[in-house]
Amino acid sequence: MATDYYAMLKVRRDATQDEVKRAYRRLARELHPDVNPDPETQERFKEITQAYEVLSDTEKRRMYDMGVDPFAAGAAGASPFGQAGYNPLNDLLDQFFGAGGAGGATRGPRSRAQRGRNATIRIELELSECSFGATRELTVDTAVVCPTCSGEGTAPGTHPQTCDICGGRGEVSQVTRSFIGQVMMSRPCPGCGGYGTVLVRPCPECDGDGRVRTRRTIKVRIPAGVEDGTHIQLAGEGEVGPGGGPPGDLFLEIVQRPHEIFERQGDDLHCTVTIPMVAAALGATLSVESLDGPADIDIRPGTQSGQVIPLYGQGVKHLNGNGRGDLVIHVTVETPSKLDAEQEKLLRDLAKLRGEEAPPGRFAPGTQGFFSRLRDAFNGR
Ligand SMILES: [Zn+2]
Ligand SMILES: [Zn+2]
Repeated sequence: MATDYYAMLKVRRDATQDEVKRAYRRLARELHPDVNPDPETQERFKEITQAYEVLSDTEKRRMYDMGVDPFAAGAAGASPFGQAGYNPLNDLLDQFFGAGGAGGATRGPRSRAQRGRNATIRIELELSECSFGATRELTVDTAVVCPTCSGEGTAPGTHPQTCDICGGRGEVSQVTRSFIGQVMMSRPCPGCGGYGTVLVRPCPECDGDGRVRTRRTIKVRIPAGVEDGTHIQLAGEGEVGPGGGPPGDLFLEIVQRPHEIFERQGDDLHCTVTIPMVAAALGATLSVESLDGPADIDIRPGTQSGQVIPLYGQGVKHLNGNGRGDLVIHVTVETPSKLDAEQEKLLRDLAKLRGEEAPPGRFAPGTQGFFSRLRDAFNGR
């Protein structure tokens, strides 16, 4: 074998991927062309980068261990950089070297394209829509990829050009002498802002941003069972990022409008039904409202104020599951407050029949005995 990549990186043949990476990093720091610009060091940097390329890729390393050097197929001592069409591994090599280029293994220009922001839209829903789900068409004011330049930021027919000042590296370096020797200072390139490319002719539509603001309509399906404060994530429906970067996510925040009858507690609904005293005593069938329309409930004879009547499975649908909560009806018994003479007489007769002695005549305020006995009577005590 012509070259011993293990020896170049100073690692054992059974070194783990992590050890290979650490060894390469350590050497690259010493030999990086930014730090040590002399030609001999640069040549060694290329060598260790080549060694790292083979040993850090499990497939290439396996081939190398079997005696096939991915780099040896070309001319002896060939630099892999910029060569094309010399062996079947070109694709693999291009993938790597096309991305970084020489010296780009540790640093590089930053990308113009950045991920877009997330956006949140509040949606007001009725209780029944929260329970059963809803479909909404939303108009969102958002950034999309610029249709003129497809996000590139350059005028039609042109492309970003490699920055003359930094040569595409995105940063400029300066060597200064100090008492510990040469010190390397790097900073983002002032010519290109660190991108490594410049937009000579920015796109007239987006001014180089790669995106434009627009209104678009999206149709969203809101699942059954959402509640006030539920967030629904629509991946990739947010804003496109600067430089035409990938979009962020769109979040829908559910706001549940208050219902005039039902109070929601989890997936249960609560409501209060007020029934007349006589109906409570004698029993009745009552029609009440539910999310599914009118429902008949039986008021049993002798129903007390404060009793609850559950309608199982008539509440809100469970989110992402089967089944529903309950509808809980709280009964309030209404005591009649304005009695005419005949009604009053009937009640007095009733009290007498039940052995609840009611003194005749009118009662002055403060005489609570009768009223408390009457209340007890209606409460069945
Ligand atoms: Zn544009
Ligand atoms: Zn530059």
